[in-house]
Amino acid sequence: MMKPSIPPRYHSPQIAVDVRLNTNESPWPPPQGFSERLATEMSRIQWNRYPDREAVALREALAARHGIDVSNVFCSNGSNESIQLLLAAYGGPGRSATVFSPTYALHSHLCRLSGTAVEEHWRGDDFALTANIVKSAASADKADVIFLSMPNNPTGTMDDPSVVDAALSGRSLVVVDEAYGEFGSLPSLASRASAENLAVVRTFSKAWAMAGLRLGYTVAGSSVVSEMFERALPYHLDVVKQAAGHAALAFEDEMQDRVAKIRRERERVLAALRELAVTAWDSAANFVLFRPATIDAVSVWNGLVERSVLVRDLSGQEGLVDCLRVTIGAPAENDRFLGALAEVLASGGER
Ligand code: PMP
Repeated sequence: MMKPSIPPRYHSPQIAVDVRLNTNESPWPPPQGFSERLATEMSRIQWNRYPDREAVALREALAARHGIDVSNVFCSNGSNESIQLLLAAYGGPGRSATVFSPTYALHSHLCRLSGTAVEEHWRGDDFALTANIVKSAASADKADVIFLSMPNNPTGTMDDPSVVDAALSGRSLVVVDEAYGEFGSLPSLASRASAENLAVVRTFSKAWAMAGLRLGYTVAGSSVVSEMFERALPYHLDVVKQAAGHAALAFEDEMQDRVAKIRRERERVLAALRELAVTAWDSAANFVLFRPATIDAVSVWNGLVERSVLVRDLSGQEGLVDCLRVTIGAPAENDRFLGALAEVLASGGER
């Protein structure tokens, strides 16, 4: 049997280092109170029974948080699964999706895996997307799906909300990826998601500090949510995930405190990078994109790894020549990164 051709894998290397700043995780775990509450919930779980197939309690809690109806919420194994299911429903062979690069590479990767054609357009100066760029792409492509990432990974750019209106004016399903939404200053688009062609994708992996849990969700019109349910495996969301997501929502204040600390650190790291004469772009997320002026990105990445600091090398991605991305960590981790980078730059790349 002939094997179908599969696009190259998408991954960031997992290397054992002291300071891991390559996958935009939270440097701190959820609070102790969360673990205690979850332990109590765990002691009540009926392990011999299948989980609630529709995850109603968790979806209701999320609906209440966003002031929407439970029929507008779908929970998934990480937000990536939401994107995969949206493409299973609205993409596929004979259909296409529009992306605005440079952006989260997994959107196009999942398109290719699902047989959806990718129409690639480019962000404007300093990676900003404008309503005009979106409008002309939408009318040229007439794609089935349009991906927006707000804030955008890996550039950190927060686009003007007018780009969403421009995308929504056509007939495409507009998928707004808000994986980093909490780190910006604009409200979530989830409150608008009863619009039938908008799907807002969110995650517990970043601001909620639960990347290990693999829990995400989509807020969308109820017909979109039904399409996702139809394509999900039976009982796709296990009992632990449902209980943990529900328990986490009781610790919103702690989440907001973590986010505030990361935002402060982000501004400090940005200022320090600029002092090192490195180009660094403003960010509304928990990471910063930067380009060292004097040394190529691969040498910088290697120099940092030698000093036990791991960041993401993006220089192989089109439009991101010599760019790297650093996740904002705890203050001491950020200091380690900045110190190591200063050394690498001073050494001129020599090792
Ligand atoms: N969207 C974006 C823009 C991301 O950067 C990521 C994670 N890197 C995800 C979605 C996936 O997150 P999850 O862990 O919820 O699958």
